[in-house]
Amino acid sequence: MKLLEYQGKELFERVGLPVPQSELADSATDARAAAERIGLPVVIKAQVAAGGRGKAGGIKVAKTAEDVESAADELLNMAIQDEPVKRLMIAQAVDIANEYYLGITLDRAKRRPILIFSTQGGVDIEEVARTAPDEIHRVHISPLEGLQAYQLRKVFFAADVPSTQLKGLIQTAQALYRAFEAFRAQLVEINPLAVLTDDSLSAIDSKFILDSSDLPADLPEGHGEGIDPLEAEANEAGLQYVKLDGHVGIIGNGAGLVMSTLDVVQLKGGAPANFLDIGGGASADQMETALRLVLSDGDVRGVFINIFGGITRCDLVAQGITQAAQSLEIQVPVVVRLVGTNEAEGREILERVEGLHPVSAMEEGAEKIADLTRS
Ligand code: GDP
Ligand code: MN
Repeated sequence: MKLLEYQGKELFERVGLPVPQSELADSATDARAAAERIGLPVVIKAQVAAGGRGKAGGIKVAKTAEDVESAADELLNMAIQDEPVKRLMIAQAVDIANEYYLGITLDRAKRRPILIFSTQGGVDIEEVARTAPDEIHRVHISPLEGLQAYQLRKVFFAADVPSTQLKGLIQTAQALYRAFEAFRAQLVEINPLAVLTDDSLSAIDSKFILDSSDLPADLPEGHGEGIDPLEAEANEAGLQYVKLDGHVGIIGNGAGLVMSTLDVVQLKGGAPANFLDIGGGASADQMETALRLVLSDGDVRGVFINIFGGITRCDLVAQGITQAAQSLEIQVPVVVRLVGTNEAEGREILERVEGLHPVSAMEEGAEKIADLTRS
């Protein structure tokens, strides 16, 4: 899960990282008032999850209150990579002498965090890696010993930073590692880490990627906005769920099967409410979680479960569905197509439960659920 800039900066402040003074605004008049409190000039920044905001025109500098209003107006009427801009950060504009890159991420191969630093900041680190690979400096962090000052001195020395900046950079890197640890991040980035004209440092942008299945308790307000709560829950349960905008809940085992189920349901005039792949197996527990997830979507008027199992025992799957349907007290029709070992027994089990409609072919099931959910 990716945090927005302002949410990440809130976490930066908690670990003592220097960030420019800022306020949020969702209208041009609010933006103007915020700018007057902060003091002009200000930078006005679209708060969207999409990367490359600057290049997309999502960041504007304003020197007068009128400029703030018109820039805010313009930003609030644009979308960046299809994401409408709803909120702005009004930040004190700082005098930048240099832009560095500082990030910490998990090196999966070595199973330990790695700190990455470059004096070529302000652009994507991937771009620096292509154009100036020698300007990227890395050091692994021992989870036991933490990030040691001597390691950092080595990194910053290799990067040729002026000695006047050394102390601030070491403090900044150690604070960033505190944030990485405290919020169990997968990635934290300050890009750019600005060196101001007085040689002090300022985190001008923030990037945080957190583990959706292991979120810290005290995240800033509004975190994870734009992430469907059902999607988050499905991820936690190891299910692939994507919310769509129709009325037919879809559950299947295997991504390819779920995709073709969506197609066939649409072909028969039904509108899928979601994509949900429960993966290879189809245990009773998984089936219950899957059904509960799909049914907690208020748009769902019926569910089509399509299970194609070679070795999956259909009678066991049918028992799982029955169990789930009973414990969830389903109020909408559930059409089930089961193919595999013991499929006749499976169908028999399903037939005994009200609200469950076993079918033997995908087209038949799609047609049935489309009929049952037509309003
Ligand atoms: P991104 O495009 O989403 O990564 O947005 P950033 O927050 O990293 O900002 C992009 C660029 O805008 C920075 O690299 C700076 O050059 C510029 N910028 C952002 N804030 C300030 C500021 O306070 N003062 C000045 N002079 N430039 C800024
Ligand atoms: Mn940036």
